[in-house]
Amino acid sequence: MKNSMSVVKPASHCFACKKKIIWRDNIPIISFLILRGECRNCKAKISWQYPMVEFLVGITWGLIGYLYYFNFFENFFIAITWSLIFSALWVIFIYDWKYMEIPMNLVWFSLVLIIAINFFTDKINLIDCSIFFESTIFINGLSGLVAFIFFFGLSFISNEEWMGYGDSFLALLIGLALGPVASFLAILVAFCVGSIFSITIVILGKADLKSQVPFGPFLIFGFMLMFFVKFLFPDLLNLFV
Ligand SMILES: [Zn+2]
Repeated sequence: MKNSMSVVKPASHCFACKKKIIWRDNIPIISFLILRGECRNCKAKISWQYPMVEFLVGITWGLIGYLYYFNFFENFFIAITWSLIFSALWVIFIYDWKYMEIPMNLVWFSLVLIIAINFFTDKINLIDCSIFFESTIFINGLSGLVAFIFFFGLSFISNEEWMGYGDSFLALLIGLALGPVASFLAILVAFCVGSIFSITIVILGKADLKSQVPFGPFLIFGFMLMFFVKFLFPDLLNLFV
């Protein structure tokens, strides 16, 4: 687990010529298209990953905005908080994909926000034990704990060969955010998509059976998919209960 997060504070300068990027060359997606993916100063190629991340973050913000607009969230600050969590998850996604490390600071950040949302959802006096066992914080917390123990166990018995310890904290996050049914499905999606991806790159000859594929991005993909499914198509989840 690495704690440095240079990705979070990207210095706005060209990586080739170090020249500072002026604001109008730094507009998400649009500047990339206008400059045709080149630095204005030295014409060095700018990675297509920048506009792609900007696009993905934009899509998730748009979806959260849509959910808020149609009253899926009872509070504007809840929508903003989810937007922050999703942004952190996209950074974790890219970072784990590139460096096979999960930036744990962003995981703690997201966990704190999700716990806060759970408490807000409950709005109950948690001292009353009879209500406590029906509270979101208890049910989702238990889901997160089960997922955490499962992934922690996989990391432990494989000595981080199959799974890293960071993944178990992502599993905890998914359980806390989605509750029992949706989090189980999110993890199932992660395993399915991850397996299909791994088999595909082996068949295409881009990797061999010993190649390591980070699992964090698949967990995050499963989470995001089930998050929106849970809100937009709740009846779909009831099929699995
Ligand atoms: Zn440059």
